[in-house]
Amino acid sequence: MNLSDIFTSANRSDTEVDKIIYSRDATAEDGECLGVVWPRTAEELHKLFSYSRRNDVTLVPRGAGTANQGQCIPQKSLVVDMSKMNKILEIGDDYVIVQAGVVLDDLNRALKDKFFPVIPYTHKVCTVGGMIAANAHGLHSYYGKTGKYVIALEVVDGAGRYLKMNSSTIKNFIGFEGTSGIIVGAKLRILPKQLARTASIFKFNTVSALVDKVMRLKKENNALAIEYFDERASVLAGLDQGFHILVEYNDNTGNIKGIKEVAEALEMKEKIRYILYKHRYTQIEDPYIPDDKLAHFLHWLSKNQVPCFGHLNINVLHPCFKEFSKMVDEMYEKLSFYNGRVSGEWGWGLKRKDKMLSADIDKMKLKNQQLDPKNLMNRGKVYA
Ligand SMILES: Cc1cc2nc3c(=O)[nH]c(=O)nc-3n(C[C@H](O)[C@H](O)[C@H](O)COP(=O)(O)OP(=O)(O)OC[C@H]3O[C@@H](n4cnc5c(N)ncnc54)[C@H](O)[C@@H]3O)c2cc1C
Repeated sequence: MNLSDIFTSANRSDTEVDKIIYSRDATAEDGECLGVVWPRTAEELHKLFSYSRRNDVTLVPRGAGTANQGQCIPQKSLVVDMSKMNKILEIGDDYVIVQAGVVLDDLNRALKDKFFPVIPYTHKVCTVGGMIAANAHGLHSYYGKTGKYVIALEVVDGAGRYLKMNSSTIKNFIGFEGTSGIIVGAKLRILPKQLARTASIFKFNTVSALVDKVMRLKKENNALAIEYFDERASVLAGLDQGFHILVEYNDNTGNIKGIKEVAEALEMKEKIRYILYKHRYTQIEDPYIPDDKLAHFLHWLSKNQVPCFGHLNINVLHPCFKEFSKMVDEMYEKLSFYNGRVSGEWGWGLKRKDKMLSADIDKMKLKNQQLDPKNLMNRGKVYA
């Protein structure tokens, strides 16, 4: 069986230009792409796995390719672009059934007075399948990660089996970065649209005072997002000297009111990453740090002059480094000392697979021995 027996010429390509386009994702590093296919049905995917098994051709599933740790960079693989499986199949009162390639903003537009609440920065292009495989976080970390809203999945696993799942097995595809199979479709929980939004900016002279306030806010349970700006990020964002948090509320608590005013205040959190980047802080990390060590870790970063912003209601930080900074390794050591995790948001991909804990690697390998026995899925990523 050849690819031409499965896909029409409009839905497969091995032209040089497509191989170049699909050799990258948002990480801006090159891999080696053997070609691209655009499946339209689960049956085509099932046949693709037979082809892949017989010819030992590895597969890289791809949504919009916004992954930024090399998750979609092919290593002599065929890229499976899911963007043509983008139908919204059913909208219920509190659920929606979609194909994996649907773009998040298209979904939320169709949901009208309801919404899918996990909204990453890349919402204009990112796909539901990519979000599930990455277990993405949103701008409003209050809502948690994508996986929390997955009720059922339709997949073709790495062994080529078409599976419909609504039990605990769905977790073998959530956050697995396309290493266990291809997500074909999903049933997702949706919520009534959030209407009220206000914001406040708080300034502190010390990180411990700031962390005390954050812990109180978490108990109050009405903050959609608590965004951190250390003293360096604060100045670059146009705030005063000192440490700041920008809090977005789902009610009228905040003193910044009005749609335009709130949107203006929130722009700061979108811009800070790019402002730091322009100041040559090109390496941005995303560690997670537990509540009881948050103040210690923020203090350590500040003392070592590592600029930092982050999302404090989920304790994910973005310390920023200039190229070749030795501080990155020191930061990882400190993180391990404080029982933190290397990635709280962006995952492992190619770039950080050497930083995964051996216990996590063993757990994933064990699952993938059953789901992808020939290691055809996203080979060379995450742990292998
Ligand atoms: C500027 C920028 C901002 C970002 N902001 C955020 C943010 O706020 N929060 C956040 O969590 N992430 C963020 N990201 C990372 C990324 O945008 C998210 O992980 C997003 O959900 C990926 O969706 P995608 O459709 O682009 O997936 P892709 O990048 O195409 O794929 C992501 C992973 O999922 C796999 N995959 C894709 N589709 C499928 C499928 N159908 N079946 C199985 N596996 C599949 C891929 O192999 C890959 O491992 C950001 C990235 C950039 C560049």
